[in-house]
This record gives sequence, C-alpha cells and structure tokens, in this order.
Amino acid sequence: MKDIKELNLKELEEQFLSWGQPKYRAKQVFAWIYKKAAADFSAMSDLPEDLRKKLEKEFFIVGLELADLQRSVDGTAKFLFQLKDKALVEAVSIPAAKRITGCVSTQVGCKFGCKFCASGLKGFKRNLSCGEILEEVLYLKNNALDAELTHIVFMGTGEPLDNYDNLLKSIRLINSPEAFNIGARRITISTSGLIPEIQKLQNEGLQFELSISLHAPDDSRRSEIMPINKKYPLKDLILACKNYMAKTNRQITFEYLLVKGFNADIQSADALVALLKDLSLAKVNLIAANPVPELNIFAPAQGQIDKFKEYLFKSGVNVTLRRERGQDIDAACGQLRLRYEK
Ligand code: SAH
Ligand code: SF4
Repeated sequence: MKDIKELNLKELEEQFLSWGQPKYRAKQVFAWIYKKAAADFSAMSDLPEDLRKKLEKEFFIVGLELADLQRSVDGTAKFLFQLKDKALVEAVSIPAAKRITGCVSTQVGCKFGCKFCASGLKGFKRNLSCGEILEEVLYLKNNALDAELTHIVFMGTGEPLDNYDNLLKSIRLINSPEAFNIGARRITISTSGLIPEIQKLQNEGLQFELSISLHAPDDSRRSEIMPINKKYPLKDLILACKNYMAKTNRQITFEYLLVKGFNADIQSADALVALLKDLSLAKVNLIAANPVPELNIFAPAQGQIDKFKEYLFKSGVNVTLRRERGQDIDAACGQLRLRYEK
C-alpha cells in the first residue's frame, strides 16, 4: 500500500488515466483529502464504487497516529505522531488572533548536532517522506480550533534542506489551490545554512520565506555551537545569501539566539551589524534562548536582551524579538522530541 499523499495532482491524474479513468477524478480525490478531511476512500461519495475499492486496495490516506497531545496555557498545542515504522515526530500549532501557524518537522531527529538544540540530541534516524510532511499539515488543519491554519513554518525537528526533494514537493502541495492553498509567502523554510541547497532554492520560482539560523556573529563562536559552520563558514554563507536576495529580490530573516554568557553582549551586537552590513534585505529575528538545562543553555536577563535589540535598531538593522510560545509544554523552537526519548 502506498501513501496517496506522495502524489501531486499530475501524478494522480496519470494514475487514473492508466486505470482508464477520467483525469478529473484526481481533483475530486484531492478535494476529499485536503479540503473535506476524508480519512477513507469509502467516504468519497461522488466516485464510482469500484474505483473507491481500487483506491482502497492500492493506497492509504492516514499513515500516522496521534501518540500524545499537550496544550499550553497560551493555546499552543504540541502533537506527537507515531509513523508507520513507529518513529515519533512532533508538530506544533500556534494560534494568534485569526490565524494559526503550523510548525512542522521534516526529519526524524537531526544530523547537524547544534549545541543549543534538543532536536539533534538523539541523532538522526531518517527523512520524512513528502506524504508524511503533508500529513502533519493535514492533521493540524483538521484539528485547528477557532481559526484556520494559515501559515506553515518548517521549524520543527530536522534540517529541511537536508531533505530537499521531499520538502519542495510538499511545499508545492501546501501551496497548490487543489490541496492546501496556503500562499507561498506564508510558508517559511528555516535552515542552519546548507549553501548548495540555498543556491538551488533561488531557482525554484516560489515565493516562500527563508530564515537562516545564524546564532553567532563570527566563525569561531558559530563553529563552536553549529558544527555545520566548519563546512559552510560565514563568509561563504553570507555571500550565498547575498546572491539569493539579488536573484529572488526576497528578504532573508536571520535567526539569532541570545544565549547567556555567549553571544548577547554589545560587542557581539556590533559584530553582527558588521557581518550583515552588505545585505540590504536582511532582517534579524532575536530569540531569547529556550533553556535546555541538559545543554547548559539559558537566556540572558531581559535588560540585556533589550540593549542588544536597541543596538541593532540604532545601527539601522531591521530587527524583531520573537516571543516564544508553548514553553510550558516544551513546544518552543529547538525543544521538540527530547522529552519522549530521554
Ligand atoms: N534545522 C533548521 C530548522 C529547525 S528550526 C534550522 O536549524 O534552522 C529550529 C529553530 O529553533 C532554529 O531557528 C533553531 O536555531 C531554533 N532553536 C534551536 N534550539 C533552540 C533553543 N534552545 N531556543 C530557541 N530556539 C532554538
Ligand atoms: Fe538540526 Fe536545526 Fe536543531 Fe541544528 S538547530 S540541530 S540544524 S534542527
């Protein structure tokens, strides 16, 4: 049995044609799965009975099971899913006014081992398939309370660009009017800085948002906390970003984690300003580190955070401070997965 969510519309049309069925059946099936929350082919009442039977024999729609659900006092909900091979992944739903942002995982574990991040602590298991990524999104959409799922951020467990083909296929379906119909500008890819894939992204002709996890203003400190920096050092990464912006005319957001005693002083702020000085479309998003006591990571005092932000602002940097959500249930960025597998 195959996951029907592995197929885009064209592939499903081809499947139907090969069965001697009209290709408009594919659109009907897409509507049932992505718009009407059908969990079974038997519910697809406008398809002929024998076709429903055939689909049932060849494909499944639902491949994951909810293993745990935690709700935060701020409305954030964290879903733990068990996949067919028993692997566990998490997705988070973050409500704000009339919108809901879904934060989804792209891999089981992560191989990049950043020192502040709980996602990589247990190493890497495997990539998620396109169908599994879409299923996270589908689950969040079908379980959205009070508002609609409007935004997707690839900031769950894993490095999205290390699972490039499945990521891009899933993004095209998230964006597609026949499936989720979420605007590309409401889809954010976050990466630790894989240069060849950033170069590939700029030629995809899609308008998604790109975030780079920067977290330190110089190579020696960045390499200390992000091993990937030894392979793709800052000079090359910043050049790749510059080229990306020139080619796409899109802004890039640099995520900068403020870690107590490490990168939150004014000299670091100054070095950060210097690093980004040639990037006119750069935005900096500061994040007070979520404490990971296992890794000796703590946030600086609020006064220091404010001073850091103020320094960037006065230096002409487009800067924001991210308000973390769901901390009480370990649903904030970089905190996923740890609790279940300790
Ligand atoms: N691998 C990608 C996508 C995962 S996103 C990436 O690294 O960008 C996870 C986001 O959470 C990244 O911006 C990451 O840097 C951030 N993060 C990791 N650990 C964190 C922590 N302890 N506190 C706050 N953010 C953290
Ligand atoms: Fe992996 Fe991103 Fe966490 Fe680094 S920050 S370990 S790349 S998920």
